[in-house]
Amino acid sequence: MLFEFNLSTPRKDFYNITAQVREAVTKSGISDGIVVVFCPHTTAGITINENADPDVVRDLLFGLDKAFPDYPEFRHDEGNSTAHLKASTIGASESIIVNNGKLMLGTWQGIYFCEFDPPRNRKFFVKTLSSQ
Ligand code: ZN
Repeated sequence: MLFEFNLSTPRKDFYNITAQVREAVTKSGISDGIVVVFCPHTTAGITINENADPDVVRDLLFGLDKAFPDYPEFRHDEGNSTAHLKASTIGASESIIVNNGKLMLGTWQGIYFCEFDPPRNRKFFVKTLSSQ
């Protein structure tokens, strides 16, 4: 099944969407398979990382800013090439194993929608695939 979620992103941040992905798995009724989380935007992405210490997300944002500064040599008219670079680095999707109806995430893992060019009204897709 395919699920679509809307997400308002007022600031540059990683938004925890684990609950929405779990909701899609529950509604689909799949027991064993794969779930794909996909971001259909070019200045945002999807990643899996720590959900316990909020300083991890803060440090990831800080590190990405350091790794991808906004160079004056960039030519893209929209002026957001650093956001495009971060989005391609993070990637547009993640796949998670579903076993006995549960996401096989580690204890400290959460699924994040990564906004690099706020504020926006975004969406993301969750596709559940049963292996039976
Ligand atoms: Zn752009």
